[in-house]
Amino acid sequence: MAPTTHSLRPLSCWKPIFRHTRLQPAATRSLTTQVQPKRTFEESRPFAPTRKSNFKIIGPPPALKFKEPIKDVTNAQLAILDPTSARSNLFSKTNPEAAHVGDILLVRLKTGDPFAGVCINIRRRGIDTGILLRNELTRIGVEMWFKIYSPNVEGIEVVQRKEKRARRARLTYMRKPKHDMGSVQNIVLAYQRSRGALRGSGGTGTLGKDEKKGGKRKVKGKGKSLILEHSDYPASVMADDIAQQLTIKMQLDKETGEMVSKNELKKRTQKRAKKAAVAARNGVSVSNPVQDPIPRDQLATAEEPVVDPDAMFKQGFLAEVYEQRPSKNIVTRFPPEPNGYLHLGHSKAITINFGFARYHGGKTILRFDDTNPDAEKEEYFIAIQETIRWLGFAPSEITYASDNFQRLFDLAEELVKQKNAYVCHCNEAETKLQRGGEKGASPRYRCAHANQDVETNLEKFRGMRDGKYAPQSAWLRLKQDIENPNPQMWDIAAYRIPKDQRPHFRTGTKWRVYPTYDFAHCLCDSFEGITHSLCTTEFLMSRDSYEWLNHRLVDFQPMQREYGRLNLTGTILSKRDIQPLIEEKIVRGWDDPRLFTLKAIQRRGIPPGALLSFIYELGVTTAKSFVDNRRFQQSVRQYLERSVPRLMLVLDPIPVVIEDAEEQDLDIPFSPKDSKMGSHKIRLTKRIYIDRSDFREVDSKDYFRLAPGKTVGLLQIPYPVKAVSFTKDEASGAIVEIKAVYDKEGKKPKTYIQWVPEGSPTAEVRIHTALFNSDQPKLVAGGFMNDVNPNSETIWPNAMIESGFYEVRRRAPWPEAEGEKLGEASLASVRFQAMRVAYFALDIDSTDDRIVLNQIVPLKEDLGKSSKG
Ligand SMILES: [Zn+2]
Repeated sequence: MAPTTHSLRPLSCWKPIFRHTRLQPAATRSLTTQVQPKRTFEESRPFAPTRKSNFKIIGPPPALKFKEPIKDVTNAQLAILDPTSARSNLFSKTNPEAAHVGDILLVRLKTGDPFAGVCINIRRRGIDTGILLRNELTRIGVEMWFKIYSPNVEGIEVVQRKEKRARRARLTYMRKPKHDMGSVQNIVLAYQRSRGALRGSGGTGTLGKDEKKGGKRKVKGKGKSLILEHSDYPASVMADDIAQQLTIKMQLDKETGEMVSKNELKKRTQKRAKKAAVAARNGVSVSNPVQDPIPRDQLATAEEPVVDPDAMFKQGFLAEVYEQRPSKNIVTRFPPEPNGYLHLGHSKAITINFGFARYHGGKTILRFDDTNPDAEKEEYFIAIQETIRWLGFAPSEITYASDNFQRLFDLAEELVKQKNAYVCHCNEAETKLQRGGEKGASPRYRCAHANQDVETNLEKFRGMRDGKYAPQSAWLRLKQDIENPNPQMWDIAAYRIPKDQRPHFRTGTKWRVYPTYDFAHCLCDSFEGITHSLCTTEFLMSRDSYEWLNHRLVDFQPMQREYGRLNLTGTILSKRDIQPLIEEKIVRGWDDPRLFTLKAIQRRGIPPGALLSFIYELGVTTAKSFVDNRRFQQSVRQYLERSVPRLMLVLDPIPVVIEDAEEQDLDIPFSPKDSKMGSHKIRLTKRIYIDRSDFREVDSKDYFRLAPGKTVGLLQIPYPVKAVSFTKDEASGAIVEIKAVYDKEGKKPKTYIQWVPEGSPTAEVRIHTALFNSDQPKLVAGGFMNDVNPNSETIWPNAMIESGFYEVRRRAPWPEAEGEKLGEASLASVRFQAMRVAYFALDIDSTDDRIVLNQIVPLKEDLGKSSKG
C-alpha cells in the first residue's frame, strides 16, 4: 500500500458523501416528495463540474436608508429634546468639562422644586440616560433618579465638582453612614448666592444658561423656579425659603418609608384608601402582616409638615361611613369597659369616635360598659376619664350601661314574649356540641330548652333575677338562626348570673342577673341615639346580632361600622398580659414607661398631640395594622423636634478645667429655630462637666471628640477647647479631671459636645429601651415572659443638667397643646431635648429637690449609641 500522503488525505472528505448516498431511499414513495429531482452521485459530489453558471448571483443588498436605525431614532429624539446638545455634552465621556459621579448637581424641574445632590450614579442609556442624586432632607437620606433628557427637566447645573475624580463608576458606598456626605444644602446655597452675583455681570457657563438661549426656559409665577427667582432676594431669605420649600414638598410615605413628592403621596394615599374601601364593601377584614418598618437609614430625626388632623375624616373609610349615613346631628360613643387601663389601641378608638363627631359638628357620649361587676373598679372609671381629657377630648355626657338595667331587663322579657329568647340550662360543653363541636364539623342543633313555651321562659327568666338559680346554672339565650354561617347568630347569650356575685359599683346588690355585651351594647346605642357606632373589626360578625336585636326591640336604629385595630410590634397591650409583668416586678406598674398603656405613655412624657398625630398619620382603614414600634417612635420624635426646648445634660459627668477661661454669662436660646421659645442664661465657669464618653485617653484618627492634644467644640461656647492633661484615680483607673485650654487659632472643630457648668443640678436619668427582644414577643417559645429584655432600663443616678431646666419646668407644659393646658401641668409635660442625648420628661417620682427624668424617645433609632451619648 502506498503510504499516506497529502494527496490522499481529501479522501476522508468523501466519507459523508458516500454515507449520504447510502441513506438515499431507493425510491421515493411519498407523494409529496415525488416531485423532488433525484440526486445523482455526480450531483452530490462537492467539486463536481457544477452548473455554477446557471446560478444567478445576487449582489450585496441595496444600501439601507439607515445604517443604524436605533441610533438614528435616538438622534432624532435628542434633536428634539436636547437641541443644543448641552445635556449630552454635560454627561459625555469625551468632554473634559463633563459632570462626573461625585459632583454636586442641581436639577431644575418644570413642575415642582429643584433638587440638588451628589451624583452617585450616571446610567448612560441613550435617550434613557439618568443620573442618581443623593442629598439629605430633614436629616433623611434622599435619592432621586432624573432622566437627563426628560422634558420635565428644565436644566442641570454643576454646583461643585469633586476635586479628585472618583475612581468608581458608582458611589453607592456613600449610602453608608461613614461616607455619607449628609446635606449639601449649604454648598448649594453658597453656589446660588455666588451665581446670583455673577448673573448681574454676565455668563455663568452652566447648562441652565445655555438652554435659556434656546428659548426653552420659562419662568412662570412664584414657586415654579424657586431658585432663580429668589436669587435676587437677600441670601438669608432665600435660604429659609428653600429649606422650607424642600421640607414641605418632600414627604415620607409612611408605608414604604420612601421620600416622595406631595402629589405622589396623595396619589398613593388615595389608591390605598380605595383598596381598603373595596375590602370594606366586601366585608373582608384585610389582615395586614407586619408593615414594613422604615428602612434604618431613614429613621433619623426628621421634621415633617404637620399632618392634617381632619384628613382621616375627609377621605377614606370614615368619609364613606359618613356618606352611608350623612346625619345632621352625629352622635358617637366611646364605650370602654372599666376593668383596666386604656392602652395605645384605645387611643385610636377615642380619636375616631370623638374626632368623627367633632369633625361633623356632632357629639360623643362616654359610656361605661359596666355590665360585668366582677372586674370593674372605681379607679378605672377615673383613669379613663382623665385619659380622654388628656387627649384633648370632652364627652358631651357620661353615661353608664347600668343606668339602663331595668329597661334592658324589660326588653329581654319582651323578647321572650316574642318567642325570640329562651332560658337554657345547658353547660359549656353541651353548648359547644350544639354549635358543631370542637371543630364545628358536626351538625348544629338546638337543645330542648329552645322549645319551652313563653310562660316557662318568662317564669324562669324572672326566677334567674330573683335568685332561684345558682350562678351559671341558667342563662337567657337569643333564639336566632342556628343554621346561619355566622356564629354570632347561634343563639348567643343575652343574660347571665355572674359567678362571683360581687356588688356592682353603681347598682350594688340590686341585680343578680346582668346583660351580656352583645345584648346591652346595641340597645344602649339605640337608647342614646347613637347614629354611628364605630368599633374595631373584631365586631364585624357581631353586626348581624346587633341589627337582629335592634330590629326586634327598638325603633331608633344606629349604624355599626368597623375599622381596623391598631397594634404595635415588639410589645404587648392586653391587661391580661401586662399583669404578670407587674407581678414579677419586671415593670414598675401599669404606668411603667416601657409599657404602652395610655398611662404609661403619659408618664413617659409623650405629648398627647404626638400620639394624635401618629394616629392621624396612620389613617383609618378596615385593615388590622401592626405598626412598627420604631415608626411610633419616629412619629413622636418628629413632633418633639418642633415643639420642645433644648437643654444640655451630661449623663456621666467628668470635670474639665479650662485654664484660660474667664467666667461669663452666656445667653442660650431654647431652640435654634424658634426664637419664640426664648432663651436662658448659663454661667460659663472655669470648671465644667462633660460626658465621660466624650473623652479618650488615647486619641485615634477616626475620633473627633476630646483627647489629649485634640480639639473639640463645646456647644454654645465661642471657642473650642484642647485637652492638655488629665489625672486618673490610681485605684480604679477612672479619669478624675481633665485640664484644657482654649484653641482660638485652630480649625473649626469637627464635633461639638454638650457640657454643664459647675454647680448644675443633678438628676437621675432613666433610659428605656424595648421591653422585649423580639418584634413578636407572643410568638416566642415559652411565651412573652421568655422574651423580656433584662436590660430594658438603664439608670444614670448622677447625671447633671444645666440650670435652664428650672425655667423649662416653670414654663411647662411643653408644648401647651391638646389636653395639656397652662396651669394644668403634669410632671410629664416638662419636656426637653437633651442635646446629643435624647428627649426627656420629668418622671412622677420627682420632687421639688429631686429630678428624675425619663427618656421619651432617643434622638436617633440607634438606641445603644444615643444612650451612651
Ligand atoms: Zn339548653
